[in-house]
Amino acid sequence: MDLTLESGVRDLPGIGDTRARGLEKLGLATVGDLLGYYPRDYEDRRQICTIREAPEGRAVCVRAMVAESPRHSMIRKGLELTKVKAVDQWATVEITFFNQSYVKNNLIPGETYLFYGAVQGSGHRRTMTNPAFEREDRQRFTGRIMPIYPLTTGISNNLLAGLTLRCVEQCAHLLPETLPFSVRQEHNLAAVEFSAKNIHFPQSEEALDLARRRLIFEELFYLACGLALLRDRREVRPGRTFLPQPEEAFLRLLPFAPTGAQRRVMAEIAADLTSGRPMNRLVQGDVGSGKTMVAAYAAWLAAKSGVQSAMMAPTELLAQQHLETMTGFLSGAGLRVALLTGSMKAAEKRKVKAALADGSIDLVVGTHAVLSQGVDFADLGLVITDEQHRFGVEQRAQLAGKGERDGMSPHVLVMSATPIPRTLALIIYGDLDVSVIDELPPGRTPVETFLVGEDKRQRIYTFIRRQVAGGRQVYIVCPAVEESQSDGDNPILLDEANRPPKPAPGFADLKAVTAYAKELQEQVFPDLRVDFVHGKRKPKEKEAAMAAFAAGKTDILVATTVIEVGVDVPNANLILVENADRFGLSQLHQLRGRVGRGKWQSYCILLTANRNPDTRARLKVLTQTTDGFRISEEDLKLRGPGDFFGKRQHGLPQLRMADLAGDTRVLREAQDAAKQLLASDPELEQPEHRPVLERVQALFDRHGDSMN
Ligand code: ADP
Ligand code: MG
Repeated sequence: MDLTLESGVRDLPGIGDTRARGLEKLGLATVGDLLGYYPRDYEDRRQICTIREAPEGRAVCVRAMVAESPRHSMIRKGLELTKVKAVDQWATVEITFFNQSYVKNNLIPGETYLFYGAVQGSGHRRTMTNPAFEREDRQRFTGRIMPIYPLTTGISNNLLAGLTLRCVEQCAHLLPETLPFSVRQEHNLAAVEFSAKNIHFPQSEEALDLARRRLIFEELFYLACGLALLRDRREVRPGRTFLPQPEEAFLRLLPFAPTGAQRRVMAEIAADLTSGRPMNRLVQGDVGSGKTMVAAYAAWLAAKSGVQSAMMAPTELLAQQHLETMTGFLSGAGLRVALLTGSMKAAEKRKVKAALADGSIDLVVGTHAVLSQGVDFADLGLVITDEQHRFGVEQRAQLAGKGERDGMSPHVLVMSATPIPRTLALIIYGDLDVSVIDELPPGRTPVETFLVGEDKRQRIYTFIRRQVAGGRQVYIVCPAVEESQSDGDNPILLDEANRPPKPAPGFADLKAVTAYAKELQEQVFPDLRVDFVHGKRKPKEKEAAMAAFAAGKTDILVATTVIEVGVDVPNANLILVENADRFGLSQLHQLRGRVGRGKWQSYCILLTANRNPDTRARLKVLTQTTDGFRISEEDLKLRGPGDFFGKRQHGLPQLRMADLAGDTRVLREAQDAAKQLLASDPELEQPEHRPVLERVQALFDRHGDSMN
C-alpha cells in the first residue's frame, strides 16, 4: 500500500495496537506526525574502522566477523551476560552484552557486522560493551549520522528511527512547500523535502545545519505572522483618545522627581493614549525601577478624560500594596481609588461594584480573578496588568474585551518586573510595544550578595541579630511549605514541569516555613519578634502578618516566595534565602529586590549546603551582578525557554525547533520576513499565501488560541 502523509501509524510494518498506543503518547498518529517529530540529538556513526584502527574510548563503527556462537550466562537474577568474539584480518575484539539475551539469535557465526560503540583496551585485550549492531549487508543505522529521538516506554530509538526512515524515503516528497518562494530565496532557506530528509538522516553536518535553519526559521516565521495578525486585528478598532495634559500637574503629586527613564516612558504612554489608537504597551523594568508611578500616570491621564481604569495584580497582597501606593499618588488629584479582591466581604464587594457601574470610582485595583467575573464599568478605558507574563495571550485578549464599548478597544498597559530576556520578549510580546525603564532611582546602594554554606549559619544568625539591633528588619525565605504549590508560592519558576528534582533523603533538610519560624522564635531569637507568611495561610492572616512587618512590628519575617512580587518595606535590609539552590536565578534576583529599597546598606545571603560545582557557579552569578537582564539571560541559558515561565504560562504555542536562547538572528530574520509579507498582504488572502495562513492557524489552534 502506498503511504501518504495522512496514513495512520498502523499502516507501517511492525506497528500493532500496543506500539500505536506508545506512539500516540508521543503525539504521533500519522506519517505526517512522524516526519514532524524531530530528533533531540544525533550520533555520528559515519566512521567505519577495522578493530585495530578504532580509537580507544570513542564510539565508532567497527567492521568485524562473528567468530563463534554467542555464549550466554546468568550471573544472578536480573543480570544476564552474552559474550561473543568478533574478528577481522588483524585483530580480535571481545563483545559483551548485558541483559540483551536476544542478541544470541541475531549474531550468526561467519557473518560480518558493523558494531557501533567504543572499543576499550588494546592488543589482545580489546573489548566492546553493548554496541549497536547490524549485518553489513543490511545496513541502515551504521555508517551514517543517526537521529536520537525523545522516547517513551515501549518505543525504542531503533524502532522510531526505522519508522522515520521509511516515512522519509516514501513520503518526504509529498510534504507541501508552505514557505513562499520569495521568502525562501531571500533568506537562503532549504526546500521542505531536503529539510525533512536531513533533519532526520543528515547527509552531512552542513546539510543538517541547512535543514535546521529552515525549520527554525519556518517555526518562528509562522509564530511572528500569527502574533502580527493578532495585533493588526486589534488595531483595526479605534481607541479612546485621551486629552493631552501638562505633565507638571502630575509631577506635583509625587514625593520625588522621576528618573530620566521614567520620564521617557511617561512620554511614550502619553503619546499612545492621545493617538486615537488603542495602546498595547509593555513597560519592562528591573525590581525597584519605579514602574508603579508610571502606571499611576496612565491612570491619571485616563481620569482627566473622565475614563475609568482597572489595575490587576497577580496576588491579593500585591493588589493591597498597589492600592496604597496608587491612593498615595492620586488622591491628591481627587481621584477615587478602590480595592476589589476575592477575600472582601460580599457587602463591600457589592458596594465597590455599584460604584464602578455608576462611574463614581476612577481606578479599581484588584486581582485578575475578581475583575474577570461580573464587574460592570461605567466606562473602562485603561487596563493595567502587573506581572502579566503570568497571564497568557488569551487572558490578555479576554481582558481587553471587557472595555470594548461603542466599538472601541481599551488601552492596555502591561508591567513586568521579571526582566525578560530580549529574545523571549520579542516572541512573547511580539504583539506589544515595549518601553524599558533601565535606570534605578538615585541614592540606591547595590545590595551586597553572599553565597555561603551551612558552616556559616551561626555567623549569619549573629549578623541578623546585629541588623535588628540597629533597627532594621529581616526576611528569611524558604522553599514552599508543601509540595503542592498553588496560590502564590513559587508561582513562576518552580511549577510542576520544572521544579528541581527532589533532593535525596538526608541531602539537606528543607526549611519549611511554619516549623522553621517556630524553631527560630523558640531557640534562636527568643527575644525578637518572628512571624511567618506563606501562600497557604488565610488571606486575612497573610495580610495581617505583612501589615505588621510593614509597620515595623515584626523583626524577622519567615516567608515563601509570596513576598517575591512587589512587597515594599524600605526598612528591611537583609534577606536570607535558605536552600538557595532550589530557586531559579531570576527568582532569586526578584527576591533580592525586596531589600535595598531604603537608605541603608542592604544584604542578600544565599545559603546552600549543595556543593555541586555547577550549582555553585550558577548561584555565583548573583554575587557578581545586579543586572536583571544578564541574570535572566543566564537563567534562560541554563534552564531553556520552556522552563523560564513554567509550563505554557506564556500562552504561546510550543516550539519544536527554535531554541530561543540561541536563535536570535534567525528570529529577527523571521520577524522581518513576516512583517514584509503582511505588509503586502495584511490578511494573507492571496491564494499563494493560503498555506502560510493555514500553518499559522494550525499553530495557534493547537494551543486553543483562536485566531478568529
Ligand atoms: P517596581 O518597578 O519594582 O514596581 P516601584 O514602583 O515599587 O518599583 O518603586 C520602588 C520604590 O522606589 C518605591 O518606594 C517608589 O516610591 C520609589 N521610587 C520610584 N520612582 C522613584 C524616583 N524617581 N525617585 C525616588 N524614588 C522612586
Ligand atoms: Mg512593582
